[in-house]
Amino acid sequence: MNPVNFLLAADIDGTLLGNESGETLFQQFASRRAGTFTLAYITGRYRWSVLALVNQGRLPRPRFICGDVGTEIFDLDDPANQIGQAFAAQVPADWDLDTIYRLGVGDGISRQEFEEGQPRFQAGFYWDSRPESLAAFNERLSQLEGIYIQASYDTYIDVLPVTLGKGSAVSFLQKQLGFTPQQVIVAGDSGNDRQMFETPYQGIVPSNALDELKEFARKPWHYHSPYPAAHGVLDGLLHFGFLENEKN
Ligand SMILES: [Mg+2]
Repeated sequence: MNPVNFLLAADIDGTLLGNESGETLFQQFASRRAGTFTLAYITGRYRWSVLALVNQGRLPRPRFICGDVGTEIFDLDDPANQIGQAFAAQVPADWDLDTIYRLGVGDGISRQEFEEGQPRFQAGFYWDSRPESLAAFNERLSQLEGIYIQASYDTYIDVLPVTLGKGSAVSFLQKQLGFTPQQVIVAGDSGNDRQMFETPYQGIVPSNALDELKEFARKPWHYHSPYPAAHGVLDGLLHFGFLENEKN
């Protein structure tokens, strides 16, 4: 029986990386199953930083890198990156980072410095982790339409176009590549993965995930593995039937 083709959309840090023996097993899985599934990394990292990990041999080469918390899609098989261009074209013409930064900065909240350059579609803030400062932030930005706000690690707040983000990126890939929703698995470990768990896709939460995601990802189609990081992802693939007759 041919293995079922599927799309694995996984966060990197704390999800695929973070456990050395798990990283090795995931590499072995990816090479054994090459050509039978599509791999997409859905990450807060820049594309170059993901490619560096691939070149170092820590991660298998993916088909897609969805960087800057899912606001950019890069198709490594297409130099013209048509899917990525179509994804970015969904951003409204009036998307305005300056206004978001002006409104967003306030008590307990400051502008995040992006050492390698400001992403096009991700406004980033440092947050003092108090619920009150987040509530006031949400209130200040409530006059803006079409934005998606996500907090993570009790430290960061991202503001994205509502048409983009980690969940939107996976959904876009699913439709563009012609997968059914049942052929998609997402995996993540922190609050900035939450949007992927707002979708109808089967979701894997490794044991090391933060409570901010564990408490949210509670739908019947979310699987909480007793194993950490990549061990958990592989265990989740087994759970969902995409790793039949294989040993971990
Ligand atoms: Mg992570």
